[in-house]
Amino acid sequence: MKFSYKILLSCIITMAVALGIGGYLFVNDVFEASMEREMEQAADDSNILQFAFETAALNIPAKYDLLQNSAVKEIGANLEKRGQGTTRFLRLSDENREILYSSEGFVEDKDLLASIEKQTRVYRVIHPDEHYYIQTGTEITALDRTLYLETMRDVTAVYKERTRGFLVYRNLMLLILVVSSVIMFFISTWLTRPIRLLTKAAKNMTDGDYSYRAEQVSRDEMGQLTQDFNHMAGVLEKNIHDLEAEVQAREDFIAAFSHELKTPLTAVIGYADLLRSRKLDDEKHFLSANYIYTEGKRLEAMSLRLLDIIVTKRGELTAQEIDVEVLFGYLKDMYGEQHKNPFVFQYEPGRIYGEADLLKSVLLNLADNACKASEPDQPIEILGEKRKEGYFFAVQDEGVGISEEDCQRITEAFYMVDKSRSRSRNGAGLGLALCSEILKLHGSALEITSTLGEGSTFAFVIPYKRQPAVPEEEAVM
Ligand code: ADP
Repeated sequence: MKFSYKILLSCIITMAVALGIGGYLFVNDVFEASMEREMEQAADDSNILQFAFETAALNIPAKYDLLQNSAVKEIGANLEKRGQGTTRFLRLSDENREILYSSEGFVEDKDLLASIEKQTRVYRVIHPDEHYYIQTGTEITALDRTLYLETMRDVTAVYKERTRGFLVYRNLMLLILVVSSVIMFFISTWLTRPIRLLTKAAKNMTDGDYSYRAEQVSRDEMGQLTQDFNHMAGVLEKNIHDLEAEVQAREDFIAAFSHELKTPLTAVIGYADLLRSRKLDDEKHFLSANYIYTEGKRLEAMSLRLLDIIVTKRGELTAQEIDVEVLFGYLKDMYGEQHKNPFVFQYEPGRIYGEADLLKSVLLNLADNACKASEPDQPIEILGEKRKEGYFFAVQDEGVGISEEDCQRITEAFYMVDKSRSRSRNGAGLGLALCSEILKLHGSALEITSTLGEGSTFAFVIPYKRQPAVPEEEAVM
């Protein structure tokens, strides 16, 4: 069953119960008030009749000062006559509770009569036929006799009024329920609209439309829920895109790796086949064997680089404070005076927080790439500068430069701008990928600025101190 129908049904049930109980109590209260009035009336009737009887008894000339049964009957009949046209009945009984006079239609049973006690008036409601009556009973004394007077007052109208009250109230309740059901239907449909919109959004997302967002139609808890849902959808969408990009990157990596493996292997297999199938002269024999050797070396270097990347990716940093002099000293030793490119070292003294061997590897890769991209005699600058965010390193060359499009991709594994040129220089497009992984471990990244034909700058920043751990909540945001 739909949620809006459930709300509607619960409201209808609640209203029906409330109206039912309320109506019953109200009609019953009115009925009881009327009955109380009728009781008082019945008591008044009984009093008047008692008084009238006693007065009449005094006025009847009695033999031997005794009130005869016949006189009682006569008075009863007179009282009856006077009350004609009303709904009043009476019955008179003697000391032995034997009936002396009874109005026509008076009940026959003597239950109430038997219960009359001295100076008390007793009551009961009886329902002998289709009518309802209030029956009263009291003791009267006239002359020397003690008699019993009973009255019956017709209160059928009060009962009918109650039945009519219930009927009117039931019809009114049905009308209220129908009208309020229609109103409640629209209210519940309006209230559950955010849920329907959320369901639609969830369905669209399940069908693959991750950019779909639920429309926010209120500012209450449902509005908050929609906002949270949309936020969650945004995070999910980003994660899915990241995962897709990662899967794509892995596929590209595998494709590039197989390709990089295939090229040298084809040459190795070709030259090996030549060596085993034919007798070659010494020079060709040497050239073939040399080709196999150099390609084998390239493969070895490539597999070692790959291993470095994988180890770096999985590894943890064993960082400590390092004097930048250690790094620049190492580079000065590597690219000293005798190098084909003039190296310029310009740096401020300072201390950084990182792993020296890994940072040496980054700077070595960048310096190596700068050499590969430059003609002999073109200068290469290695800079070190203290900045607010950390120690700034930069490797600058005036070589071939890199196009903007290539800049975006050169840190991908196996990406080479000029494949044949790179391969001829023993490259496999893994150097910058390794640098990126190492810098990621240091909480840093490569910044590349380059202009084709003018040169390139590869820069990065290393913190001075251990970075405080990011609290988990902030990290999620
Ligand atoms: P490789 O090991 O083949 O040099 P890298 O990942 O180090 O691979 O470099 C990827 C590509 O980026 C290279 O093919 C090269 O063409 C280009 N590259 C790297 N550094 C420079 C530079 N300083 N100037 C011009 N091109 C560069």
